[in-house]
Amino acid sequence: MHVPPIPTLTATDPELAGLVEQEAQRQHDKLRMIASENYVSTAVLEASGTVLTNKYSEGYAGKRYYEGQQLIDPIETLAIDRAKAVFGVDHANVQPYSGSPANLAVYLAFLSPGDTVMGMALPMGGHLTHGWSVSATGKWFNSVRYGVSRETGLVDFDEVRDLALKERPKVIFAGGTAIPRTIDFPKFAEIAREVGAVLAADIAHIAGLIAGGAHPSPVGHADVITTTTHKTLRGPRGAMIMSTAEHASAVDKAVFPGLQGGPHNHTTAAIAVALREASQPAFREYAAQVVANAKALATALIERGFDLISGGTDNHLILADLTSKGIGGKPAAQALDRAGIELNYNTVPFDTRKPFDPSGIRLGTAALATRGLTEEHMPQVAAWMDDAVTAAIKEDEAALAHIAGEVRDLVSAFPVPGYSAA
Ligand SMILES: *Cc1c(COP(=O)(O)O)cnc(C)c1O
Repeated sequence: MHVPPIPTLTATDPELAGLVEQEAQRQHDKLRMIASENYVSTAVLEASGTVLTNKYSEGYAGKRYYEGQQLIDPIETLAIDRAKAVFGVDHANVQPYSGSPANLAVYLAFLSPGDTVMGMALPMGGHLTHGWSVSATGKWFNSVRYGVSRETGLVDFDEVRDLALKERPKVIFAGGTAIPRTIDFPKFAEIAREVGAVLAADIAHIAGLIAGGAHPSPVGHADVITTTTHKTLRGPRGAMIMSTAEHASAVDKAVFPGLQGGPHNHTTAAIAVALREASQPAFREYAAQVVANAKALATALIERGFDLISGGTDNHLILADLTSKGIGGKPAAQALDRAGIELNYNTVPFDTRKPFDPSGIRLGTAALATRGLTEEHMPQVAAWMDDAVTAAIKEDEAALAHIAGEVRDLVSAFPVPGYSAA
């Protein structure tokens, strides 16, 4: 049963409510290992479902374009103050609708169409919005891309520096969606300073690890920091832009009125709740557990012959090239899903296959740690993954279904917020 319960929705729209109930059950029954996903707390779910969704509040606290902001202003201010405290920044804007619009606001704040932006190439682990060709950021700006070294799987800072000196980007993005190793923000900052570029750290994936002290912070190195709030930070779907005091006004103007209309106040409230949770001692333990789980899982996967990009992980994320296992990323991911193990197929650096049918899979441990799984469970997770890949190659559906049953048995002992068996 969904928690909080949805009796009125069930009475009003049983068809929709039925789908929501099934999704709650699905999220309970599976090992959810999509690296960008998590389970938010019931408090975050409750805040997301409040009457704050009814209110329009274009502008910022004290400078709104509609009346009736007596309670919205303190709610948004609470979220901002908590973001500033958790991350130790001068300025925070909590209005971006999601990570992609947050990054677009950075372009609007610091670039004009046609200007040069530098980011990690998508197939190397970057994000679409860091200037990839199919994105507006790659179509409307002159984007140049760096990658990782073929030998180490790590960012090659000599390449980044040479490219920056040659292309003179106005903005450099550091961060990405499939980076299993610590991001060296001081090195990026040194290069950005050398070429006079704004350094934008996109910490969407690792924000929770940074908040919990399990990954170095870009604060003090980056000029502007963008993040989603729903990945390791474990808040609602949303985003924030943080910056030094110097860039505060440019950031705020870019978000509103530059790019967006009214902020999603129910989301702002839920972000405030998530930031309160992230400021508690238990969240530090959580962040450390996420990383400990990922390291234990990486070790167990390597023992089973999985080929991990960069040879392991420093954070929540693992990227595996399945070529050595004799199966593509997509059929493997689909079979793993049938075995109760949810992750995504992903390109690997220097992939020889197509983006829609790449060589790799990407997985993360943020959601598993939220539901209480620890290092001791990771060898079993690796064993199921290995068995499921073997079953996929043999097209053994019975074996996949058997693993899904074993997964369900294990996870039943680990309740998740948002669902109750009763
Ligand atoms: C997830 C992600 C985004 C985009 O977030 P959305 O909320 O999906 O728009 C941007 N940058 C990075 C590095 C991400 O991982």
